[in-house]
Amino acid sequence: MSGERHHDAVVIGAGPAGYVCAIRLGQLGVDTLLVDAEHLGGVCLNVGCIPSKALIHASKEVAHLRHAGDMGIDAELKGIDLGKMQEWKSGIVKKLTGGVGSLVKGAGGQVLMGRAKLTSPTTLDVTGEDGTVTKVTTKNIVLATGSRPIEIPGFSFDEEFVLSSTGALALTKLPEKMIVIGGGYIGLELGSCYAQLGTEVTVVEMMDQILPGFSPDVVKFMSRALKKQGVKVILNAKAKSQSAGSDGKPGTVTVEVDGADQELPADVVVVAVGRRPNSEGLGLEEIGVNVERGFVPADSAQRTNVPSIFCIGDLAGQPMLAHAGSKEGEVAAEVIAGRASENDARCVPAVVFTHPEIATVGLFEHEAKEQGRDIKVGKFPYAALGRALSTNATDGYVKLLADAETDLVLGAEIVGDDASALIAEVALAIEMGATAEDLALTIHAHPTLPEGIMEAAKAVHGEAIHAANPKRRR
Ligand code: FAD
Repeated sequence: MSGERHHDAVVIGAGPAGYVCAIRLGQLGVDTLLVDAEHLGGVCLNVGCIPSKALIHASKEVAHLRHAGDMGIDAELKGIDLGKMQEWKSGIVKKLTGGVGSLVKGAGGQVLMGRAKLTSPTTLDVTGEDGTVTKVTTKNIVLATGSRPIEIPGFSFDEEFVLSSTGALALTKLPEKMIVIGGGYIGLELGSCYAQLGTEVTVVEMMDQILPGFSPDVVKFMSRALKKQGVKVILNAKAKSQSAGSDGKPGTVTVEVDGADQELPADVVVVAVGRRPNSEGLGLEEIGVNVERGFVPADSAQRTNVPSIFCIGDLAGQPMLAHAGSKEGEVAAEVIAGRASENDARCVPAVVFTHPEIATVGLFEHEAKEQGRDIKVGKFPYAALGRALSTNATDGYVKLLADAETDLVLGAEIVGDDASALIAEVALAIEMGATAEDLALTIHAHPTLPEGIMEAAKAVHGEAIHAANPKRRR
């Protein structure tokens, strides 16, 4: 459809922030248009969370197969057809992205494919792929244009030798040697995935540790796990230049470590140094919307400095995570529909889907100490859980933090199998204002990994059952 249209709300960007917002607006009876320039589902469903988790799952299956002999299973890994794996992954993406359109329409919203540009706080132009311009008037605009990978000097993405995360998730031939620039969560997920599939992976990180911002315990644990998987990590290393290989010879990546250059052979180099918000070309500055370092700040109602314009998801700033964006989308929709809603989440869980998984929520121990908070900590190893032993997954721990005086749960870090699922219990505890004692007194089914949370909660009081407790004065 082209020409002119009017809607009570227009959401720009159909990622997990924007499409959730559009569904919620529809549910609340607001006449809504969802606009996207490229694809429904955004980065998350097309080239982010979902495809990466599919490939990571496949790589875990490979790892299980490699260790099946420990359980007396005589299985042989005959080979990996990465092209077929990609077809399987694309099938999952297609199902999910198709579902987004149906859900939005099912809730009463409409979808328009095209690139949006604001022309005033209540009007915008949407240019379709064929150049047709649709002029839209509205009462409310929700900005949800997300983010894209950052390039570094000398490493422009050609998606053949120098890959963004998007290119890394689309490989159809397993590279022999992969250099990953960036030891953050995306770099480590991709690196650990390809290492499990059989690629020789080297991670190059500019800082003096991988996973900047994570606790020293997590960093130590993950560094050991990566080493076990054969992933080489070079810290304090600056990637300077690259040259692609030719005639079947590998390319090279030059990195500077302690003032000296090193040349690393590579079939591909993946640059995963962070993501940049998509705020350019939207006409924001022209109509007076505040833009700070590319991000569009919003208040707890997700409203920008211009009352008719809201911002959600990666574009609104940290934490740049799909589930945080979805929550912001729901809040914006409710505010637009006239409800008294605000983003008052006490915590946002974060997961790194490496082998093993890392999941955190709330405060880290070192942060609590930096803030001068009086805390109690309970830690429980996976190795002491019957379930972890019986699933051959004893690498890991649960660490729970509680306020020393009130016993309120303040945070947790969980490293190990299914940490991504386990963390939800602690997030709920924080949201509900539960104490460590509440978690300790809750009966957890046996034998399960969540027993680790119950035991860590007991350990907060020096009362873990299946592990020795540090000596306490009676
Ligand atoms: P996006 O998903 O970026 O979507 C924005 C949409 O806006 C896009 O579809 C784009 O086409 C559209 N758009 C942009 N400009 C315009 C315009 N002018 N007009 C119309 N449309 C426009 N997060 C997690 O929580 N868990 C994970 O496991 C996870 N894994 C990830 C793995 C990878 C490899 C990557 C790259 C990211 C991962 N993320 C993960 C991050 C997650 O993908 C993002 O936080 C999330 O997609 C942000 O959602 P969003 O809705 O803000 O924007």
